[in-house]
Parts: sequence; structure tokens; C-alpha cells
Amino acid sequence: MKLIVPKEIVDGESRVGITPDSVPALKKMGFDVFVESKAGLSASFTDDDYKKNGAKISSKISDLYKNAFVVVKIQRPQITKKNNEVKNLKKCNLLTLVYEQKFKSEFSALKKLDINVFALEKMPRISRAQSMDVLSSQSNLSGYKAVIDAASKFNKAFPLMMTSAGTVAPAKVLVIGAGVAGLQAIATAKRLGAVVSAFDVRSATKEQVESLGAKFVSVESNESGETSGGYAKEMSKSYKNKQAKLLGDTLKKMDIVITTALIPGKKAPILITKKMMDGMKVGSIIFDLASEFGGNCEVTKHNETVEYKSVNVVGPQNLAATVSQDSSRLFSKNVLNFLMNSCESGRFKNFNFSDELVKDTCVINNIKRGK
Ligand code: NAD
Repeated sequence: MKLIVPKEIVDGESRVGITPDSVPALKKMGFDVFVESKAGLSASFTDDDYKKNGAKISSKISDLYKNAFVVVKIQRPQITKKNNEVKNLKKCNLLTLVYEQKFKSEFSALKKLDINVFALEKMPRISRAQSMDVLSSQSNLSGYKAVIDAASKFNKAFPLMMTSAGTVAPAKVLVIGAGVAGLQAIATAKRLGAVVSAFDVRSATKEQVESLGAKFVSVESNESGETSGGYAKEMSKSYKNKQAKLLGDTLKKMDIVITTALIPGKKAPILITKKMMDGMKVGSIIFDLASEFGGNCEVTKHNETVEYKSVNVVGPQNLAATVSQDSSRLFSKNVLNFLMNSCESGRFKNFNFSDELVKDTCVINNIKRGK
């Protein structure tokens, strides 16, 4: 059973879907692993690393895709003037990040093929699936990298320093949205010595924020910010007004603001307006991790840094790819665990469609019984 790993072709995508350390386990499950030559190089994994772990290297795309049963990619297959990755797919099971609502034309091209597609971003957020959850593994690293990048852009040090030439005050960091990325951002900013505050509409996050040594900024309200599934919901107008007043006052004291607030299936809520930014310190930084989904700040532009009244607003693109060695390894482990979930006595025969993880992620099911 052939499992293949093509090289990613999207600009700035330096991750790879399967890393060499996962190959022995895949072989044990019954897969023959074929990797496109140099597929792992931008994540620091050489062809030799793959070969040593039992994978075969393909230099020709047609050889790589021939008789492939499982295709593992980070980015959905691309149709560009130079490349058409969709036409390579024949009677195979594609495991990738799909985002069908956002990339409608690519999704309809895939729907016409005799293939199955598993959208890894649709993995249910339940305990059993935690080890397969690519959103969490990648968001965690993005939260870390957001703080590192913001710190390197900032013209002040993070920790308190008592020196013979005087005292350096610690940086003040506010994290808005204490989900997976936000909690890692809090932990990273704390490690660097900043004084950290955080805010979230879900009251359950208060304890998590405080356990990381940060201060929880709370809105006085009886309104619950949580759905029965544990996700954030859109808040009432009166809550939003109270939140805006509280955030406006808090922002005046901050040096760096990391925003990560998302509501599943919706545009990111605007939490920082131009008016609030008027009161912010000169040279402060807003690092908007929600930029891909519209941003939490009124002036955010995805993949750009905007300066508004001496505040720099960064809208980063694909932060996980800037730590590609670790993000690839975690993505690969997530995929490995997902395949393992369909194994019987340690061997993979086909995807187990009676399992909810397989059912929920399978967004195109044109070859139900495999080949
Ligand atoms: P997310 O990326 O959807 O959102 C980020 C954060 O933004 C969330 O904490 C959310 O509450 C917050 N937010 C939304 N609107 C806001 C607003 N107006 N103001 C302030 N904050 C706002 O979240 P996520 O990181 O994917 O995690 C969401 C939940 O899912 C968490 O409870 C997390 O523990 C849970 N989770 C469970 C699993 C699992 O069991 N497999 C895996 C990952 C996450």
C-alpha cells in the first residue's frame, strides 16, 4: 500500500506532511512510503534522512503519484498557471488542510475526481482525537512564534533588569483569546520575563490563564461566552460595549498585544478599533494571529505590517511554517495517529468509515471502499 509525500509548492510553505521519524511506524502499519526528492529540505529533513528510515525517494512526479493509495500534503492541491497538482490525483485518499468554504474552486475541482479527501482541520475536538488535532499542534507553535517575532520587532527588552546603569522595566503584554495559540503566547511571554495579562469571553479560561502566571482581565457580566461544545460564541451588544471600554483602558498600558480571538465558522470579531488605538503607546505592537480570518484589529491586513499612529499592526501569514522543523514533525505525528486509528491489529487495510473521526473529516467520499 503506497503512501506518498509530495513537496509543498505554495510560496512560503516550508513544512512537509510526513517527517522521517514517522516512516518506521508507517512501514509497520503496512505502508510503502515514497517521498518526493527534497520534499523535507526546507524543514531540515534530507532525502538521506528519509532513506535511512526506510522511505523511497522519487524524483519524477508521475512515478511518485503512480498507484498512490494515501497522499499526505499540508496545503490543499494547487491549480496555478505553472502547476496543476489536482490532475496528479487518481483513485487515492488525500489527507490535507482543505478549508472548503474559503477555497471553493479548488474544492469543486477535487469533488469531480474519483478520490477521497480527508480535511484534517475538521478533526473533532474531543479527547480521543487530541493526538490527531493538526489545528492544535500548529496553533500552539504559532502562539509561540508570534511572541518571538513581536519581541524581535520591539524596541525594548522583555524582562525586568536591575543594572548598575539603572532599571529596565519589564514589557507589558496582553493576549486576547486564550485558546491553544493564546495560552502558548502567554507561556512564551512569561518565559521571556514580560508582565502578561489575558482576556477571553470563555470564563473557563480564567483558571488556565492564572495557572500560567498571567492576570485575567474580566468583563463584569453574567453572560456566558461559551457554546455547549466549549467554543466561543458571539456576544451581545451590551457585553461588547463593556468589553470595548475595558479593552480601551487596558490597551493604553500595553507594549505588545497578541490577538487570537476566533469564533468557529465566522469572521474574526473586531476587538481593537482605531479609536482604541489612539490611546496606545508610541511604538507598541499588535500582532494579529486572527488576520487570516479578517483580524481582531480594525486596521489589520493579512500578510502585511501596517503602521497606524505609531502602532505597528502585524498580520502574519503561515507562522507555523516559520518553525517548520517542529511544526512538520507534529503534523506528521497527527497524521500517523489518524492512520493508526483505522488499523486492525496494528495493520492498515482501509479507513474505518464507522469511526466518527473518519466520518467527520471525510469531506469527499468518491471511493468509499478504496481501490
Ligand atoms: P479558537 O482558535 O477557535 O479561538 C481562540 C480563542 O479566542 C478561544 O479561546 C475563544 O474563546 C476566544 N475568543 C473568541 N471570541 C472572543 C472575543 N470576542 N474576545 C476574546 N476572546 C475571544 O480556539 P481554539 O484554540 O481552537 O480552542 C477552543 C476550545 O477548544 C478551547 O476550549 C480548547 O481547550 C478546546 N480544544 C479542545 C481540543 C480537544 O479536546 N481535542 C483541542 C483543541 C482545543
